Amino acid sequence: MNLVYLDNNATTMVANEVFEAMIPYFSKEFGNPSSIYDLAHGANEAVKESREVIADFLGAANPKEIIFTSCGSESANMAIKGVLDVNRNKKHIITTCVEHPCVLNLYKDLEKRGYRVSWIGVDSKGDLDIGGLLEALSDDTAIVSVMMANNETGTIYPVDKIAQAVKMRNPNTKIFVDGVQAAGKIPINLKDTKIDLFGISGHKFHAPKGIGALYVKSGTMLSPLIIGGHQEKGKRAGTENVPYIVGMAAAAKLAKDSLNDELTTVKKLRDKLEKGILANVKNAVLNSKSANRVPNTTNIGFQYVEGELILLHLNDEGICASSGSACTSGSLEPSHVLRAQGVPFTSLHGSIRFSLSRYTTEEQIDYTIAKMPIIIEKLVKISPFQKELKEIFK
Ligand code: PLP
Repeated sequence: MNLVYLDNNATTMVANEVFEAMIPYFSKEFGNPSSIYDLAHGANEAVKESREVIADFLGAANPKEIIFTSCGSESANMAIKGVLDVNRNKKHIITTCVEHPCVLNLYKDLEKRGYRVSWIGVDSKGDLDIGGLLEALSDDTAIVSVMMANNETGTIYPVDKIAQAVKMRNPNTKIFVDGVQAAGKIPINLKDTKIDLFGISGHKFHAPKGIGALYVKSGTMLSPLIIGGHQEKGKRAGTENVPYIVGMAAAAKLAKDSLNDELTTVKKLRDKLEKGILANVKNAVLNSKSANRVPNTTNIGFQYVEGELILLHLNDEGICASSGSACTSGSLEPSHVLRAQGVPFTSLHGSIRFSLSRYTTEEQIDYTIAKMPIIIEKLVKISPFQKELKEIFK
């Protein structure tokens, strides 16, 4: 079996059509979109058209609401710092305990700088304490930020309902949604919501790494994160990365066209993988229990065995998966998302995220289901928790 790539929440393969669409903008159409001669015209038009495509992808009311950035982390930093800078009298922030590090660590830093942060928890299924979030609102709340889909468990948070409820109480509080793991996996229609700011990242939906976008609802005041030239209407300085912008637009079109596939075929394969592992591996427990999940993700704990060892054995079989978000794998800290869900230590360290894409095949899923019991059996033999494991495997 060739490579089985089940780590699509970490990054995705660039789609062939995306790569093809980008090529002319590295060579023939290399002009700077801000220049006035004919050569630049193609680049300028390409950025304009790409903005329209991304606006359509996100259901924005107007392409002017889309700002191109370098990644999801930049989009989040731009949204959050930009809102706080124009609301300097407000010192309260509401967010969740399960955000991606690009949001979580920014708020931890802001806490050290004098902001008051209300951290909203989740239950054992991964669902958010929305009552607690609304109770935390005060006149001083500058921003509420909740991700749309969790990168580790796939749990979807009802961000439009949250935005609506927040705006009813506090119309001036801004809502930022990290939409990086939602874009391309579930329908998004921002014009029908009260969400002010929404970040995405191209490399999560088959565009290259190093390109992202921030949706800024018309009328939302925001200070720029990068100050310099007049690009992106002065909201984000720096010469536009034309080939990557074109690539992200091509990827967005493909993702929109295959959304039904994502919701049916990918989900069917994810469910098959999940059921197959849970049925064949006795110490496997499902961590991603919420009924509301993106179709491509499952997170499974393997009791009393070490996650990093599982990953190494999977790697030996040509299977790529992850033991947490890509940004924290490589650290020995167990996942903050699973800890927030109260996952017991017995499976916390042995939890694996499998994330599929529309390029995942049934053959690859069958192969993974077949390999998992063999790998876990090997690791069970060398686990120091023999007594506990005997109970599970009896
Ligand atoms: N937000 C979420 C939910 C993510 O999963 C990621 C990346 O894994 C990011 C933000 C950061 O995106 P980028 O890698 O483009 O900075």
